Amino acid sequence: MDKIILTGDRPTGRLHLGHFVGSLRRRVELQNSGEFDKIFIMIADAQALTDNWDNPQKVRDNIIEVALDYLSCGIDPAKSTIFIQSQIPQLCELSFYYLNLVTLSRLERNPTVKSEIAMRGFETSIPAGFLTYPVSQAADITAFKATVVPVGEDQKPMLEQTMEIVRKFNSVYGETLVEPSILLPSNSACLRLPGTDGKAKMSKSLGNCIYLSDSSEDVRKKVMSMFTDPDHLKVTDPGKIEGNTVFTYLDAFCDDSHFAKYLPEYPNLDALKDHYRAGGLGDVKVKKFLFAVLEEMLAPIRERRAMYERDIKGVYAILEKGSAAAREVAQRTLDDVRESMKINYFSDSQLIEEQDRRFKEKK
Ligand code: ATP
Ligand code: MG
Repeated sequence: MDKIILTGDRPTGRLHLGHFVGSLRRRVELQNSGEFDKIFIMIADAQALTDNWDNPQKVRDNIIEVALDYLSCGIDPAKSTIFIQSQIPQLCELSFYYLNLVTLSRLERNPTVKSEIAMRGFETSIPAGFLTYPVSQAADITAFKATVVPVGEDQKPMLEQTMEIVRKFNSVYGETLVEPSILLPSNSACLRLPGTDGKAKMSKSLGNCIYLSDSSEDVRKKVMSMFTDPDHLKVTDPGKIEGNTVFTYLDAFCDDSHFAKYLPEYPNLDALKDHYRAGGLGDVKVKKFLFAVLEEMLAPIRERRAMYERDIKGVYAILEKGSAAAREVAQRTLDDVRESMKINYFSDSQLIEEQDRRFKEKK
């Protein structure tokens, strides 16, 4: 069986450090490992419209932002197919059939969707499209026969839902769809990177993000005003590491080589944490170190972005070509699905022959 990756992001804003550690960095590594037969990366505009239906311009404008973020992080269109979800109508048709395989109560149990509903104030009136977006995600994943889906922890319920749909489909209609496996970040700080305000998740919708395209000065300002330990008032006070966002980011981004370069008085992160816990280490020093670590990573991304920004037409051409290629693959899966569901009336010559015979025999 081919090894195939499918992942994506909603074009609701530029991509941030949470996307990078949760999924994007892994995608680039997997792409360059050469171990995968095909890699599909989707800009999920149709899904973004499920909670932004009244703001199509926002979704439209962010398509190019997300594409630029992909390319600047090292997604290579020669190795990965980047496409736009709405340009693949086959995905809608698959979703429509999969909706028969899930119950309303199952959809309402999804913990990620539950918290998103609360965040968006949808409790009194949930748009049906929003509640069912995990089903459309199952269509996205299965249309490309993805075997591996590298995503952040918030996507776990979506993958579980997809697996249930695949099993149900295959048991009712016969072996057709491929069951995907989730690939979560191996570093626990990256499973769900908190926002700069210390909130549970860095998220476009919460406005607590450091964007991959932020200027160096913006990153510096955001880092210097980051949430730390509110009880660590004086440098001499002992400090807490747990729930201290600056240290969570260091867990996610730094390694020993950064200490040798930017903070040689400490051999590694454990030594820095010990000093902070004991007291005598100020937040400013730790934040300056974090800024240096982030800048080392972000500077080349920013440079590549500037290069692609000079060729926006070329970027749209990549998306158009990718979408055409994705349509072909999704159509092949849809053909299989239609056949399994016995709705392939005109491409099945046997059917017409059999029915013809049956009616003749009746006479
Ligand atoms: P929105 O607020 O519009 O939902 P978002 O910031 O949650 O946006 P998505 O486009 O929903 O971003 O997520 C895209 C991918 O990035 C998913 O794989 C998701 O798991 C991952 N991801 C998003 N935020 C984080 C985070 N803070 N930590 C780790 N992974 C994340
Ligand atoms: Mg999200």
